[in-house]
Amino acid sequence: MIPYSRQSLDQADIDAVVQVLESDWLTQGPTIERFETSMAARCEAGFGVAVCNATAALHIACLALDLGPGDRLWTSPNTFLASANCGRYCGADVDFVDIDPLTWNLDVVALRHKLQAAERDGTLPKVLVAVAFSGQSCDLRAIAELADHYGFSVIEDASHAVGARYAGRPVGCSEFTAMTVFSFHPVKIITSGEGGLVLTNRPELAERLRSLRCHGMTRDPAHMSEPSHGPWYYEQVELGFNYRITDIQAALGLSQLNKLDGFLARRRELAARYQARLSDLPLTLPTLQTEAESAWHLYVVRLQTERLSVTHRQVFEALRAAGIGVNVHYIPVHLQPYYRAQGFKAGDFPCAEAYYAQAISLPMFPGLTDEQQDAVIVHLKRLLAVTNGGGVNARTD
Ligand SMILES: *Cc1c(COP(=O)(O)O)cnc(C)c1O
Repeated sequence: MIPYSRQSLDQADIDAVVQVLESDWLTQGPTIERFETSMAARCEAGFGVAVCNATAALHIACLALDLGPGDRLWTSPNTFLASANCGRYCGADVDFVDIDPLTWNLDVVALRHKLQAAERDGTLPKVLVAVAFSGQSCDLRAIAELADHYGFSVIEDASHAVGARYAGRPVGCSEFTAMTVFSFHPVKIITSGEGGLVLTNRPELAERLRSLRCHGMTRDPAHMSEPSHGPWYYEQVELGFNYRITDIQAALGLSQLNKLDGFLARRRELAARYQARLSDLPLTLPTLQTEAESAWHLYVVRLQTERLSVTHRQVFEALRAAGIGVNVHYIPVHLQPYYRAQGFKAGDFPCAEAYYAQAISLPMFPGLTDEQQDAVIVHLKRLLAVTNGGGVNARTD
């Protein structure tokens, strides 16, 4: 089975991990800080705070913005659950903004309309999680203008977008956002096994994130309310968590970072091959924004089902049966039973729902060979040609 994504590890990664295993520090050691500063430097951000996964990163990013009960977090329905759940962890209400039918990212026009209505109703959001779907940032410049005008904060969920660029700068530089979050899960661009990172330029947010990552504890006398009892003394100043990453994981992440440019180059190459070789099929291919350079975490095609005599599910199952590990990103989050129980229903976000009915993620990862990719393309061509009754234009409606 060719998977839709997988990690690319080599001997240097293994050596880096072994080196930490042989050192004094398995966690809370110096490799974590090296990983944080290297990622921040690469992304042109002031501060990096590494945690155990991106879900934890999103949670403490929301808390650092004081998101709580009575507040609202908005995000895209076309995302992984965590982009929305982070709001619920804080006790806030979660709502969604429909997606752009071409970029499949949160639609800024829909956002503007929803904000106008929310201002009238007194239901403006405190936080917007702008997901860089498939590795391509949203229209962050326009979102930042709306954030200024309506007074909400923006977290970019760039779990798909390590190494991507926006407006001529690296994603993560947080020029248009309060914070940026990355994931280092093995299916993502670089991996630390499990891992996440928050990047920000605001020192007070970085400090708060570090505190929340580690139980809300401080050893800094400037933040204590009592006089020190002695050299062992620490204080818990707020309710935090154990969201630490280990030095073992950070070593893997750091080693992977050395290979990021090569990974990105191969992903771009594979994307260009798909774009060229699939262009005459009844598919809608990814549309590129002018300001965003994708990291190509996912390569999603949309079946033009109105031109096909086979269903989305049939194409998906036939590809799986052929040993091609396709996937679907994403089931609209508002249709999950947990969110339906909060009042969301089918029809609430029609663009995300129409997209879901047609989307298939094809294999995309640096280790995918040209031959494997060609096999995916051949299978897809055969399926779409055979099943629409002779020629892709058999139905011309
Ligand atoms: C993978 C992912 C997450 C969660 O990442 P973890 O590191 O697995 O917690 C959050 N948001 C998006 C968009 C993701 O793809």
